[in-house]
Parts: sequence; C-alpha cells; structure tokens
Amino acid sequence: TNFSDMGIKENVLRGVYEYGFEKPSAIQQRAVMPILQGRDVIAQAQSGTGKTSMIALSVCQVVDTSSREVQALILSPTRELASQTEKTIQAIGLHANIQAHACIGGKSVGEDIRKLEHGVHVVSGTPGRVCDMIKRRSLRTRAIKLLILDESDEMLSRGFKDQIYDVYRYLPPDLQVDWLSEKMRTSNFTVSSMHGDMPQKERD
Ligand code: AMP
Repeated sequence: TNFSDMGIKENVLRGVYEYGFEKPSAIQQRAVMPILQGRDVIAQAQSGTGKTSMIALSVCQVVDTSSREVQALILSPTRELASQTEKTIQAIGLHANIQAHACIGGKSVGEDIRKLEHGVHVVSGTPGRVCDMIKRRSLRTRAIKLLILDESDEMLSRGFKDQIYDVYRYLPPDLQVDWLSEKMRTSNFTVSSMHGDMPQKERD
C-alpha cells in the first residue's frame, strides 16, 4: 500500500511527503483506513512505530477546514506526547491549513483561551487541561466528531479515567472513538463494551 492508495487529500499527501515519509508503516497501513471510514478502532502500537504520525494523518484527513470549529480531540497521558502530537499535526497539516493547538497543564491558560477563540480544528491535550477548557467554554465541543485516546491504558492506569469520562460527557453523541494502547491491557474490552463502559451523556 502507498499513501496515494489511501484516498488521502492532495494537500495532506503533500504534507506527508514533505515530512519525509514515502510509504505507510505497518500500523499506518492497518489503522488509517478504518479510522477514515469512521470506525471505532482499538489499536495496539508501541511508540516509534508511526503511531503519532498515524494520528496526525487521520486527523488531517478528517478535518474540514472550511469550518473553524474543533473537530478532532486527542487525549494523551503526558504533556510531552500531547505536544509532540500537536507538532506532527501542524507539520503534516501545513498545506491543508490545519490549525492544531495543545492544551496541556503547566502552560498558560490565557494562551489556550486566545488560541481557541481564534479558532483551531484540532486539540491535542492532557485530560485535566482539556476538561478545564471545556468547562470554561473556551473549548467548544459541538463539532467534535473524532476522539482519539492515545496510550489509553497508560491514561487509565494514571488515574485519568474520571477526567476522560468528564470530557466525554461534553462530546456529541455520534462521536467516533479510537483507542490506541501500547500494552493492550484493555484487550479484554470490545469496542461495544468500551462504549458501554462510557457514562451516559447528559445533554443540556
Ligand atoms: P511515531 O511513532 O509516529 O512518533 O514515529 C516514529 C518515528 O518514525 C518518527 O521519527 C517518524 O517521523 C517516523 N515515521 C513514522 N511514520 C513513518 C513512515 N510512514 N515512513 C517513515 N518514517 C516514519
């Protein structure tokens, strides 16, 4: 498989090639298509296998830049990973004009508010700060169609579960959720039981 066989938009493909990729890695070959088809995916991927790039590619393909609303949200267990994902999206999404912003603890809240008000398509963040920005109504969630939980088992074991559920409660009902995990302690779950595991939505 080549990137060009994957139905990737021309300006996103340009970003991929300029980033230095020629062919999709194994995980990219297996997971990008189901994600682009809108399926809920659970994938096991070690870091260094093209996981972050896979997230960036999928997100860049899914975003509609004619809108300035946040359409994809990626949650990560660490500030470093969230920030690395933001940078990879900015690089791959350069020619598609995709605006990504990292909402991470320890950074200026004012800067987050300013960036979000200006309008971004993608937010990559840690659960606590993302939750905070949603509750402040700076991060508008109504156009979010894709939630990616990166290193999901790490997030759950670090005690982020309540914050993830908290975020999830604010997201639209027809959301696509993709779970990426290094160790797959979550492998005893199926997609449907994962959804069953998520709290019921409270609509306001
Ligand atoms: P990642 O797991 O996405 O952080 O990728 C690990 C390393 O592999 C990074 O240096 C990426 O730039 C590189 N990489 C990811 N996907 C590809 C690809 N399809 N072709 C070549 N290098 C890649």
